Amino acid sequence: QYSEKWTQVDNYLVSHLIEDDPILEQVLENNREGGLPAHDVAPNQGKLLAFFAQMIGAHKVLEIGTLGAYSTLWLARAIPDGGSVVTLEADPHHAKIAQANILLAGLQDKITLHVGAASDTLPLLEAEAPFDLIFIDADKPSNPLYLAWALKLSKTGTLIIGDNVVRNGAVVDPNSDDARVQGVRRFIEMIEREPRLTATALQTVGSKGWDGFVLARVIG
Ligand code: SAM
Repeated sequence: QYSEKWTQVDNYLVSHLIEDDPILEQVLENNREGGLPAHDVAPNQGKLLAFFAQMIGAHKVLEIGTLGAYSTLWLARAIPDGGSVVTLEADPHHAKIAQANILLAGLQDKITLHVGAASDTLPLLEAEAPFDLIFIDADKPSNPLYLAWALKLSKTGTLIIGDNVVRNGAVVDPNSDDARVQGVRRFIEMIEREPRLTATALQTVGSKGWDGFVLARVIG
């Protein structure tokens, strides 16, 4: 397996290109100590999310799947004052740690965390729509539902990002009995058929293993 090398390379790149950040490092430590799964994006991926937000001039961001708010903080820092990030988390323990991390970073005025299944909280967001960037990173079997909501809560130019769409290559197996793989496959095929979207996807390797993300842009 190459995965040890992938991690070494990520560590090398991160050590040279991603600024030391005591707050974000403390956030990752808090997440570990709180027993959260290590499913936060990697630092170089967090910075990529921030770049995407800045490149499209995002003011309003929606994130589905907060965990400990690591990606949330990258996104919140990337948007200008007056902008906002709404983030959705089902697990109250994850949400509690996320809320503490948001306070630690001093970004409580920019971030609103809704606790509850995203299928219940997404319908509350219609008044706040449209969002400029929507990051889908929660339970993968629900990705098709989240894509439908993302389309409802978007406008022309909205960037929709879906994480973990490669899953160690499992995405190519149409007969997979893994509901997450099937959720991702339906998600990708929905994007393919959706005339309002144009999309691409990239495989990634690194400290988080072999995975990838979809970028879909709303064009109509
Ligand atoms: N975006 C985070 C980051 O990079 O730091 C990682 C999110 S983690 C991959 C997925 C999160 O989605 C978990 O915290 C999980 O509890 C949450 N989740 C799972 N099912 C959910 C649901 N139905 N609604 C909202 N959140 C859910």
